[in-house]
Amino acid sequence: MSAHTLPVLAQADVSPLAVTLEFKDTPLRQALEMLFQDSGHRFQIEEGATGVVNALLNEVPWEQALRVILASQDLRSRRQGDVYYISRRPGIGVTADPRIAPEVVRDVKEAADATVAFFQDTYGLELTRFVGIILVTDKEAYRQALTDTVKMSPKWIDRTVEYSGGISWGNYVVSRNVGLHITRPERQRDIIHEIVHQYQSDIAASDARGILTWVREGMADAIAAQVLDKTGLRTMEDDRQGWLSLARKYKAFPEFSALNDLNGWYAAQDRYGSWCPDATAYLAVDLLVQRKGHDALIAYLRSAKTQDAASAFQDAFGVSLDDFTRDFAAYLNGLLARGGPSSR
Ligand SMILES: [Zn+2]
Repeated sequence: MSAHTLPVLAQADVSPLAVTLEFKDTPLRQALEMLFQDSGHRFQIEEGATGVVNALLNEVPWEQALRVILASQDLRSRRQGDVYYISRRPGIGVTADPRIAPEVVRDVKEAADATVAFFQDTYGLELTRFVGIILVTDKEAYRQALTDTVKMSPKWIDRTVEYSGGISWGNYVVSRNVGLHITRPERQRDIIHEIVHQYQSDIAASDARGILTWVREGMADAIAAQVLDKTGLRTMEDDRQGWLSLARKYKAFPEFSALNDLNGWYAAQDRYGSWCPDATAYLAVDLLVQRKGHDALIAYLRSAKTQDAASAFQDAFGVSLDDFTRDFAAYLNGLLARGGPSSR
């Protein structure tokens, strides 16, 4: 701890207000209301910032009182005009149902760290927000987390609970599947996939109109394969073979145009089989990466932020969506034709 003692006059320059307050298990919002009362400033608590404050402040300059409260909860503030925005520090936090085995939680944290490191090392990208990972054990808890914490709009909740084992939404990743997986690569893949979605929102803005759902999903799987390859849990080639043998179970595949948004994606799950859209999306993005490299994926996100879907696609991958649709159909036929049991 550093012990710089500021001269009293200098402190008075920074803030003329001195506050005396006592907090005993005081909820964050209430503590901030007490501090901000009559301060001439306002505050807004951003998603994920919570806490219970215990502090005794005696004639402490106002700014310093704010710092003490925030530091005790590992929070930060950003000031705009007379409003202080209170938020969690950027990074990933994991909350797990106590019934989930410690080694599963450890695996999830390891996957989260590996993903953050991967984006730093490979793309020079930092996570700019706090992301909460919530691990649940059953559909009821899944529903509850989506309702209470994620605050997903009710129209999506039934479908999500029924059709997905995990989702990335707002500042959260909720996973019900992760405790069910037996192998570490499967477990980590799920979490990495969802965290990639968080980076996608970070880079392209979550409501970017240029992001096609199949590219979003295929990219999450393609990057998850890269991260697992890097940490040595599973090679990219093994991952590709896994997707291929999954794809061989299906007789027909959806058109890309049917996978442009989440509604279409869910409808395709009904029609073609629950993992069929995923397999299609992975193989398509894998082909794009084989042609243009992984950097094209980040370029796509950046383009999708400002452009419509067709232009963003053409920009990043150097091929029109129509041409690629034709190329991919031929590529997929070739892959599946080669893929009899004898050739594996
Ligand atoms: Zn996904």
